[in-house]
Amino acid sequence: MSNLNETYEDPKKLANDYVHEVYSLIKKRNPGEVEFLQATREIFDSLRPVFSKNPHYIRDGILERITEPDRIITFRVAWEDDQGKVHVNRGYRVQFNSDLGPYKGGIRFHPSVNTSIMKFLAFEQIFKNSLTGQPIGAGKGGSDFDPKNKSEREIMRFVQSFMTELSKYIGPDLDVPAGDIGVGRREVEYMSGQYNRLHGGHKAGVFTGKDPNYGGSLGRKEATGYGTIYFAEEMLRVNDLSFKGSRVIVSGSGNVSIYAMEKAIELGAKVVACSDSSGYIYDENGINVETVKLLKEEGNKRIKEYKKFHSSAKYFDECTGIWSINCDIALPCATQNEIDEAAAHKLVNNNVKAIAEGANMPCTKEAIDLFVENGILFAPAKAANAGGVAVSAMEMSQNSMRLNWTFDEVDEKLKQVMHEIFQSCLSASKEYGHPGNLIVGANIAGFLKVADAMIAHGIR
Ligand code: NDP
Repeated sequence: MSNLNETYEDPKKLANDYVHEVYSLIKKRNPGEVEFLQATREIFDSLRPVFSKNPHYIRDGILERITEPDRIITFRVAWEDDQGKVHVNRGYRVQFNSDLGPYKGGIRFHPSVNTSIMKFLAFEQIFKNSLTGQPIGAGKGGSDFDPKNKSEREIMRFVQSFMTELSKYIGPDLDVPAGDIGVGRREVEYMSGQYNRLHGGHKAGVFTGKDPNYGGSLGRKEATGYGTIYFAEEMLRVNDLSFKGSRVIVSGSGNVSIYAMEKAIELGAKVVACSDSSGYIYDENGINVETVKLLKEEGNKRIKEYKKFHSSAKYFDECTGIWSINCDIALPCATQNEIDEAAAHKLVNNNVKAIAEGANMPCTKEAIDLFVENGILFAPAKAANAGGVAVSAMEMSQNSMRLNWTFDEVDEKLKQVMHEIFQSCLSASKEYGHPGNLIVGANIAGFLKVADAMIAHGIR
């Protein structure tokens, strides 16, 4: 690292050299971890002005420390299918940072899960959780297990085996998992059941996203999707736009997508398309969310079947085609890197006005650069989808107090949290020389709080 005293005279150079040097180090230390490197690079690009202004973060090695997880736990998950055949998957928990509170972040079951994806998600969670203003650290976990085409009992046996190992590393003051792709209420309940079995008795507050009948919070199911819309509505409002009368497309048809669609429609938007990993449906009359719920929440069906209920809808194979539909607002709510440069070009050429990321890192760096260059409003995931974890933290509070808040109480608090996140992103973007750039604002506002906590807690 350059000599701090000498480079104080040129703080910009000092910051650039530092960021460059640490990024090279991270690339060397994490070879082939494409998603993790993408997530770190995106943060690093935003943080240069922070290091120019506050060189003490450089002396304290904050970037080197914040990009190295506290620990990564990986383990074998052996389970038996309905035919008596044994299968083996890999389980993960990345406990990334606990300076603000217990590790907090979801569990994902998807065949694509690997170390890089787990690390990128846990890393993003540091900044997101910090933005919520709540006392939660950051983690993420999961398995390369594919829940598709598995029976309910197979899923239960898999989850029990997964939790038998993971239970050693989690707890209400240590690490509090929740759901994510492939993990909904049912899986959270199986995890909770197995944890309780192993620990003798009912332990509250070890998981969030539980069934409200058994300690879950009302409004958690809706929180990520609703929160994304609350955040986007704030962003639209300061630019004299709104959901009212807008054409919207939403990728995915899972938990985040369904409730983003529901709230956007409630605010007067027309959602004309949604998707799953096989293809997308387009309905000029507007998507009926109740049908999507019926298919996906209750039926475990493919989105293709939507056409059976609505003859005006058209189905197209291959989910990425959804981005060629004309819209005012696009809400990527499925998975990472679903909008690449080509998809972004289509959206820009069709005069999209705003993008809000409901999923984690759904836009590639090239896509984001294109949106920014073209002056398209952009709500980054770590701010826009923070409503889910914010309500998870509310679930932890309710569990500790042995209280249940009403749906309206939770929804009101969620709105307030999203408003505060938006304001802190906006003011950090102004303070650090990029007014209105919410990507920079979210990265900086999320970073500052954790960095200060890391310094307060000493070198470790
Ligand atoms: P779900 O499993 O409920 O839904 C995921 C949806 O995305 C499904 O429709 C799925 O289709 C689709 N999908 C998955 N992979 C792909 C792919 N490669 N291409 C296209 N579509 C795909 O997950 P969630 O709604 O919970 O999560 C969605 C995103 O939101 C993730 O990025 C997650 O990390 C993020 N997120 C979720 C939070 C939550 O509270 N649930 C909180 C914050 C962020 P199919 O059924 O065919 O697989």
